[in-house]
Amino acid sequence: MCSKEGAKVLPPHVLIFPLPAQGHLNSMLNLAQLLCLSHFHVTFIVSEFNHRRLLNHTTTHSTFARYPGFRFQTIPDGLPDHHPRAGLRAMDIIPSVLKISGPCFNQMMIENHLFASAGSTRPVTCIIADGWLSFAADFAEENGIPLIYFRTVSACALWAYFCTIKVIEANEIPFRENGMDELVRSIPGMEGLLRCRDLPSICRVDDAKDPTLWHRITLTMQTVRAKAVILNTFEDLEQPVLSNIRQHMPRLYTIGPGNAHLKSRLGGNKADASTPSASLWAEDRSCIDWLNAQKSKSVIYVSFGSITTVTREQLLEFWHGLVNSKQRFLWVIRPDSVTGEDGDRIPAELKECSKENGYMVEWAPQEEVLNHAAVGGFLTHCGWNSTLESIVAGVPMICWPYFADQLVTSRFVSEVWKIGLDIKDSCERVVIENAVRELMEVRKDEFLERASCLANMARMTVGEGGSSYCNLNDLVEYIESFVN
Ligand code: UDP
Repeated sequence: MCSKEGAKVLPPHVLIFPLPAQGHLNSMLNLAQLLCLSHFHVTFIVSEFNHRRLLNHTTTHSTFARYPGFRFQTIPDGLPDHHPRAGLRAMDIIPSVLKISGPCFNQMMIENHLFASAGSTRPVTCIIADGWLSFAADFAEENGIPLIYFRTVSACALWAYFCTIKVIEANEIPFRENGMDELVRSIPGMEGLLRCRDLPSICRVDDAKDPTLWHRITLTMQTVRAKAVILNTFEDLEQPVLSNIRQHMPRLYTIGPGNAHLKSRLGGNKADASTPSASLWAEDRSCIDWLNAQKSKSVIYVSFGSITTVTREQLLEFWHGLVNSKQRFLWVIRPDSVTGEDGDRIPAELKECSKENGYMVEWAPQEEVLNHAAVGGFLTHCGWNSTLESIVAGVPMICWPYFADQLVTSRFVSEVWKIGLDIKDSCERVVIENAVRELMEVRKDEFLERASCLANMARMTVGEGGSSYCNLNDLVEYIESFVN
C-alpha cells in the first residue's frame, strides 16, 4: 500500500458508470476524456455486451491508449445477448441494470480492490454515476465515497421529470380525453409552453398510480442524494430552467456540449469535426463520399439514434415523404430498427428507388455528417446527444421524438430555441414532405440564422473563459478537494 505521503502525489481516481446505451456511453466517455486531460485516473464501467461491440467496431483501442490513466472495467447488464435493447424493449435496461449490475458493482469494488491503492493508482476518489443508477447512491453513502450524478438528458427534460410529481398532484395525469394539446400548468417556468403531449412518455398512462411512472419519478427525485450533479448542456442554452433545478441541486455543473468541449480541449477545429468514435455499430464512411458530391446545404440527414424502432408502415411513410419533398437525403436505417416480419435490414426496393435522391447506411459517423457542408437539415428523434451535436454544427432540425426525454426536448427545439419543427406523434408522408420543404426551402434562412447563432454560443461556452469551460475547471477542483 502506498504511504500517506506517496498517495498524495497521485491524481484523483474517478469511477464513471453510465447506463449501458449508446447515448449515455457517448456523453460519459466525453467526460471521461475531459477528466483524463486533467491527468485524472478513470475507471470506466461498461457492460460486457457493449464492451465486445466497442472493441469490434471502433477506434476505441487507439482512442484510449493515449490516456495512460484510463481503463475499462466490465460488468454484466443482466440481459441475454439476444435481447434487442431497442424500441420499447430498451425500457428493460434500467430495471435489469438495477437488479443485476447493482449487486455486481458492490462485489466488483471489493474484488478489484478499488478501495485500496493499487500500484500507481489511488483508491476510488469519487463515483460519477448515471442519474438512473440509484444503487450508486446507496453504495456511496454506505462506504463514505463522494457521489456525483451525471444526467445525460437536457436540463428542460430533467426538470420535467423532476416535476412530474407536481403534475400528478395537480390531476393533470392521466390526460383528459382528447387532451393531448392542453397546456400543462404545474411545471414551474414551463407554464404556457408544454402541452400534455410534450411531457416525458412515462406520463402517457391511464392510471396515475402506474408503477413504471412512479419508479422513474422515484429514481429522478433521488438525484438530490448526490453531492453534485453534472449536466451536458450550457448556461446560455437553458438558463431559466437551470435556475429552477439549482433550487434543488445547488452544486450543478453544466459542462456541455461535451463533444465540442472535448474537441476544443484537444485543440480541434471545425474541419476536424469528430471526436474519437465509440460506436456500438460499424460506421459506414461511404456516406461521406456521397456527401462530398452534393451541393452546399442541400441534404437532409435522417437518423433516429440507437434505440428508436419504426414499423414497416412508418418507414414507408418517411420514405414517401422524403422522396416527395424532392430534397436529397442521407438516411441511417440501423439493422435492428425496423420492426415487423421481414423488416430487419434496409429493404432492397427502398434502396434501389432512392438512388436518385438519397443514400442509406446502417450507421454513420454522425458528428462528421452533421458538420459536412452539404448537410442543411436533420430529421431526428431528438435524443439529447443528437440534438446537441446538431446545435454545435448549426444544423436546423425536424423533430420526430420517439419516447422519454425526447418529447420535452423537441418542444424546446421548436418553441424556445426556434431552430426547427416539432412533428411529434405523426409521420404521415404529407407531414414529412411539408416539414422537409419548410425546413430546407421555405424557412431555410430563418432557421439557419438562428442555428448558426446558437452554434456560436456553443463554441464560445467551451472556449477559454466560457461558462462550460470554467465549470469543468471548477468540477476538476471540486474532485481534487476530495483527496486533499
Ligand atoms: N450516432 C452515430 N451514428 C448514427 C446514429 C447515431 O454515431 O448513425 C450517435 C450520435 O452521434 C449520438 C448517439 O449515437 O451521439 C445517439 O445518442 P442520442 O442521445 O442522440 O440518442 P439515443 O440513441 O440515446 O436515443
